[in-house]
Amino acid sequence: MTGVLDARSRDASLQALAAGPLDVLVIGGGITGAGAALDAASRGLRVGLVESRDLAAGTSSRSSKLIHGGLRYLEQGDFKLVREALRERDLLVSRLAPHLVRPVPFLYPLYKKVVERPYIGAGLVLYDAMEGVKRPVPHHRHLTTRGALRRAPALRADRLAGAMVYYDAQVDDARYTVTVARTAARFGAVVVTRASATSLLRDGSRVTGAVVQDEETGRSFDVHASRVIVCAGVWSDLVHSASGVRAGYQVRMSKGVHLVMPRSAIDADTGMIVRTSKSVLFFIPWETRWIVGTTDTDWTGDRSEPAATPEDVDYILGQANRVLAKPLTRADVLAVYAGLRPLVAEAEGAAGEKPTTKLSREHVVDTPLPGLASIAGGKFTTYRLMARDVVDAAVADLPGGVPASVTGQLPLLGADGLPAVRASAGRLAAHYGVPVEKAAHLIARYGSLAIEVLDLIRGEKLLAQPLLDGHPYLRAEVAYAVTHEGALHVEDVLARRVRLLIESSDAGASAAPEVVAIMAGLLGWNRRRRATELRRYLEFAAANAAALSAPAVMTEAPTEIPVPA
Ligand SMILES: Cc1cc2nc3c(=O)[nH]c(=O)nc-3n(C[C@H](O)[C@H](O)[C@H](O)COP(=O)(O)OP(=O)(O)OC[C@H]3O[C@@H](n4cnc5c(N)ncnc54)[C@H](O)[C@@H]3O)c2cc1C
Repeated sequence: MTGVLDARSRDASLQALAAGPLDVLVIGGGITGAGAALDAASRGLRVGLVESRDLAAGTSSRSSKLIHGGLRYLEQGDFKLVREALRERDLLVSRLAPHLVRPVPFLYPLYKKVVERPYIGAGLVLYDAMEGVKRPVPHHRHLTTRGALRRAPALRADRLAGAMVYYDAQVDDARYTVTVARTAARFGAVVVTRASATSLLRDGSRVTGAVVQDEETGRSFDVHASRVIVCAGVWSDLVHSASGVRAGYQVRMSKGVHLVMPRSAIDADTGMIVRTSKSVLFFIPWETRWIVGTTDTDWTGDRSEPAATPEDVDYILGQANRVLAKPLTRADVLAVYAGLRPLVAEAEGAAGEKPTTKLSREHVVDTPLPGLASIAGGKFTTYRLMARDVVDAAVADLPGGVPASVTGQLPLLGADGLPAVRASAGRLAAHYGVPVEKAAHLIARYGSLAIEVLDLIRGEKLLAQPLLDGHPYLRAEVAYAVTHEGALHVEDVLARRVRLLIESSDAGASAAPEVVAIMAGLLGWNRRRRATELRRYLEFAAANAAALSAPAVMTEAPTEIPVPA
């Protein structure tokens, strides 16, 4: 039980699942499923997790990457959600995952001097007050117009009436999900990707496991478990209907699109949040990039790869340009990505009636059959509470009783000894013979697990080379993705273990040959397999860039300044 997901040991993991029986089988390897696996495994239960594609391949790699209370939910009166989310944010920043979750400032520009400052100010006082007693992030602050322009010279100066600055936190969502799954494995969970639950096993009305299909070979086998937990996000209804289960909730898909741009496109040293007519638009600092979004529209198409349209791109540019002095154009956009929010309709039959911006972001747990629990909705930020709730519901009548959730006291892998590891960056760099900035880069991404990546470099010096010029990732991170983070395909590496899919202007295509070479060495790919893997990734990258290469629509010059509703 080392917390290692080694792609080379996948067969052994499949055998362990088939050998069963498990206490809990989790279906779905997004943040909710990974969280549920960790929650159950750390209560001493025998746990298995199956994921159809890759960890975080669904919504959990396509979010705004914020760990936040959600200022706009406060305005909607969703106080419980905001309070819970802020407490979770603080717990993750301070104790459970300080290596992965970092505070980030947001500037809220004000345009109506008299009404807006007291209104937004009161909201932020409440937002700050809802945190726990120990504050790991600073209080909000008021800025004058001049102060606002100093922090964000990119803003249009006309009609600007000052700003507020408040703090939330951000995370690499896919990396976080993998780390939660690895921490679950550390406590004995068997985690297998590219394995789908195709139907539920039944003994009368009781659910006793699932039929699982290995997506790499097409082979199916039974996995027996006392309890099954469905954490399939926007796929929940498909999992239910495949086995004739009538669940008590309905999932409605809402598509959200983000644009990624270089930092030079927008001159500001802080994140920004501005109001749009329907919701809010975030400008989120992302290392040497900006992530700008998002949208919120109903979606009924393909769940696996929701497509951003040229209209989505132009909508975001148009909204951003309402507040920016120098308008952004498509030429500024490096990449675009889309994700699907698994929103739960408030009551059966209500789906389809409310606009998705108004649907609750709270989660729903259902136990439609004995032995089966299912969860959907919620937010990345509150995954730990969601996991606790669904495991509680699943094991409520498990004979012998089950201890309460302990994840509130359980730091994720890589969090232990973080201050010491950070302080030792120079010494580690000297010890492993790498430049100090490379050691610091690894510590910033892996926390104390950086030493495992450095160990790979010690064995193979070439792995200290950059994966792609102009990007911070090292070749060692590709090897580590295979040997420690369960990456089976090039897409797993470039889309989720490193983020070149969304951070480079060619969706990671030019790094793909090197990734294939490193993976082939570790996974024994022959020439034909290498060619197939490369072609598959290049097709995937091209499809992802499609919204940007579509015919350009002129972006309107800014005419209207957003004002509070
Ligand atoms: C645009 C956007 C922005 C967002 N921004 C934020 C934010 O900033 N902060 C925040 O807190 N939240 C945010 N969210 C919400 C958050 O991302 C989601 O709530 C969360 O990622 C959902 O995780 P999940 O595990 O429930 O679903 P998913 O991540 O979709 O995981 C479900 C998994 O189940 C797998 N699966 C499906 N069927 C099967 C099967 N039969 N067998 C095996 N596996 C199966 C799928 O492959 C998938 O990986 C955002 C969401 C979107 C769309």
